[in-house]
Amino acid sequence: MSAPMASDIEDRLDDLRERGLYRRMKVVSGPQGPRVLLDGKPVLLLCSNNYLGLADHPRVREAAAEAAMRYGAGAGASRLVSGNMTIHRRLEDQLADFKHAESCLLFGSGYLANAGVVSALAGEGDVVFSDALNHASIIDGCRLARAETFVYDHCDMGHLEWGLRQAEGRGALIVTDGVFSMDGDVAPLERIVELAQRYDARVLVDEAHGTGALGPDGRGAVAAAGLEDDVDVIVGTLGKSLGSYGAYVCCERSIAKYLINSARTLIFSTALPPPAVAAAMAALGLLREQPRRVEKLQRNGRVLREALASHGLPVGDSETQIVPLVVGDAADTVRASERALERGVFAQAIRPPTVPEGTSRLRLAVMASHTRSELREAAASLAAAVRPALERQERPARVFDGLRDAA
Ligand SMILES: *Cc1c(COP(=O)(O)O)cnc(C)c1O
Repeated sequence: MSAPMASDIEDRLDDLRERGLYRRMKVVSGPQGPRVLLDGKPVLLLCSNNYLGLADHPRVREAAAEAAMRYGAGAGASRLVSGNMTIHRRLEDQLADFKHAESCLLFGSGYLANAGVVSALAGEGDVVFSDALNHASIIDGCRLARAETFVYDHCDMGHLEWGLRQAEGRGALIVTDGVFSMDGDVAPLERIVELAQRYDARVLVDEAHGTGALGPDGRGAVAAAGLEDDVDVIVGTLGKSLGSYGAYVCCERSIAKYLINSARTLIFSTALPPPAVAAAMAALGLLREQPRRVEKLQRNGRVLREALASHGLPVGDSETQIVPLVVGDAADTVRASERALERGVFAQAIRPPTVPEGTSRLRLAVMASHTRSELREAAASLAAAVRPALERQERPARVFDGLRDAA
């Protein structure tokens, strides 16, 4: 490798460090339980998407182990070549049934699903309407699509309608997170569906954080809004509430057939490993048998939001298990995260480009397996951890009144 290139990379890394945007990975020992060893130190885990505690559930682990023995570790090929195994079809049928959908198609991951589905459904001349706070995999799907992208302000239905009006007569696809991954607020799905019907657009909802968390039986934000018959495509991951890895797309049979013939991330990528499929199947079974897990997750979200509010901390518009504690400056947020760690709470600092400039935050994610007292104690530690940063930024006095008690 030539020297200029290497120094160019060092320069870029230095630049990231200077802007407080440098990232490194920390090592967690053991499973994603409510408490973990982080770089060797015991901490409360408050940033995992193992929402229902199923990734480390004995039945889920056993299912994965059994599938490894029965079907092997890998699928060996793409679904379209030789990798389409009975276990894939079984999980697709169960997910379609769970989501009240005609058809379901497994993908390698949520990232691959969004990248593949958005680019397959939106062709040249079409327009994709995408919420400004949609997940990066949707943004990349838009980039891969030959269609034009119209990014509407977060949940701003006036802006979306304005865009739809400009594009009348062209193929239109509206794409939104059901539950927004970094803010925990819920998309105005009823209004989106109304606009889609008025302007003849398709709707894709990403239920990565809605499945297992919202709606009847934890079926998601779309089911919670009573819109299962009105949304064209639902994308969801197996990696969060369902405790495994992989993703699914629920839609009409004709769309599924079309995706099999056009979604490049399905066609040109190896099928999901059987143990991952079996684990998700076991997790789905547990979710359906034990709806109390979903209730406990929702309760824990409320407990954390209320505890943070009692310390005078703002929690945005979150209505879910995802609670953003916005600090603002990227470097400040990293320091707040480090102070929280010193107090035994692992809350990851989320910075641009994951979130917009000036809105860096500790993105807190509760799990059903946390206890109330763990969350209340964590809120006090977090209040103390973010206080110096918020004080420095001269937030309204109201915030500090509460924070003083948390010291
Ligand atoms: C995590 C996430 C994805 C990606 O899913 P993976 O299965 O982890 O690749 C897609 N969309 C949203 C909204 C997410 O939060």
